[in-house]
Amino acid sequence: MSYVDEVFELVVAKNPAQPEFHQAVKEVLESLRVVIEANEEAYRKDALLERICTPERQILFRVPWVDDKGQVQVNNGFRVQFNSAIGPYKGGLRLHPSVNLGIIKFLGFEQIFKNSLTGLPIGGGKGGSDFDPKGKSDREVMVFCQSFINELYRHIGADTDVPAGDIGTGAREIGYMYGQYKRLTGLYEGVLTGKGLTYGGSLARTEATGYGLLYLTEEMLKCNGKDIAGKTVVISGSGNVAIYAAQKAQQLGAKVVTVSDSTGWVYDAEGIDIALLKEVKEVKRARLTEYAAARPSAEYHDGKGVWTVKCDIALPCATQNELNLEDAKALVANGCFAVAEGANMPTTLDATEYLQKNGVLFCPGKAANAGGVATSALEMSQNSERLSWTFEEVDSKLKGIMVNIFHNLDDAAKKYGMEGNYVAGANIAGFLKVAEAMTAQGIV
Ligand code: NDP
Repeated sequence: MSYVDEVFELVVAKNPAQPEFHQAVKEVLESLRVVIEANEEAYRKDALLERICTPERQILFRVPWVDDKGQVQVNNGFRVQFNSAIGPYKGGLRLHPSVNLGIIKFLGFEQIFKNSLTGLPIGGGKGGSDFDPKGKSDREVMVFCQSFINELYRHIGADTDVPAGDIGTGAREIGYMYGQYKRLTGLYEGVLTGKGLTYGGSLARTEATGYGLLYLTEEMLKCNGKDIAGKTVVISGSGNVAIYAAQKAQQLGAKVVTVSDSTGWVYDAEGIDIALLKEVKEVKRARLTEYAAARPSAEYHDGKGVWTVKCDIALPCATQNELNLEDAKALVANGCFAVAEGANMPTTLDATEYLQKNGVLFCPGKAANAGGVATSALEMSQNSERLSWTFEEVDSKLKGIMVNIFHNLDDAAKKYGMEGNYVAGANIAGFLKVAEAMTAQGIV
């Protein structure tokens, strides 16, 4: 049996009931096959793949907190410190009822290669809890965040592990976590990113993932003789990534006609009104029905349906496995020619294959949404320097990073005879740097 297949079997056997983690490992290992086979003896001897697929450390903890009725609630807390070969662990904290160890491991594993692709010195990690901030009062969110940090603070630090936001963890949650970290440690350091601008946050961090997604998409189209201006774009999600992806797409001259949330979706023939979307989602924290009620050109639909809308470009920006084979078929039938993932692993493996086989330009999340973590790393740099850069400075660095990422994965795909396969290109480019650093550092 080949080394790749052997390690994949081992991962499945050693990590039962973690299908998302298996899926992420399979995607990466499959596309690394050609690289691994070229170095099989050395990698096998060093158990390089076994080590890269096993977290350096997993921290599981209890998060007790008292709700507004005086009832004690208990959530599970997670931090998976996956790989520190190229820098301190870096990756977000997800707060969502679906969070479990397998989800955090899939996200942490993806993060290793994503962080490597940015070209910045950051390792891979991820964390979170099955706590749902939706429907909770500010006080409840605060006491949850404080309790979460009461355990996590001893495992993180500006030079060891720097968590950030993710689904359910926005500026409010990061603020409460930072306050508690500072209180417990007495340190005013860049331990979390996505902080508010008055206490060490970076300009453009809020916009970074969505803007970065569009900078990369624009470059991918340009290199394939296409222009984003005038194109119709469908977006799923209506959170941080989706909102700023929609904003940048419109700034670049495209028309974004959909957004969604976990209950339904909106089709707006005149193009999404970004100011209204921000009011509904960022200020009121309300459902998309409110967007549709305030906008005559918008239709609201219950359930899932974004991928059935005719478009040129699709940007999944909500969650994992939200674009399946059936959705991919609908996109291709409707003439969609590019898909770039704003979310982490939103496209199932069979859907990805179908899109690629049908000539759709497909950029995976570990490259396309790397602008968020890249700008988090820029926030870390500013915190270390005790300086703040202008919006334009951060945004222009972000754009440079995204353009570079695209060329790195494009070059890697070409070098290994898989031109146009950006999934393989991203995995190979991300992997090679980490593998070299791990090899140089010995068996640790
Ligand atoms: P938010 O919490 O801000 O928004 C998430 C959006 O996705 C919401 O509209 C939410 O709807 C929807 N959503 C969440 N879960 C589901 C589900 N199970 N089914 C349908 N819709 C769902 O998160 P972000 O925008 O920050 O993150 C979105 C994706 O992007 C995630 O995969 C995240 O890991 C990834 N990502 C985020 C980065 C960042 O900087 N924020 C960086 C890189 C990747 P509702 O409000 O109804 O729950």
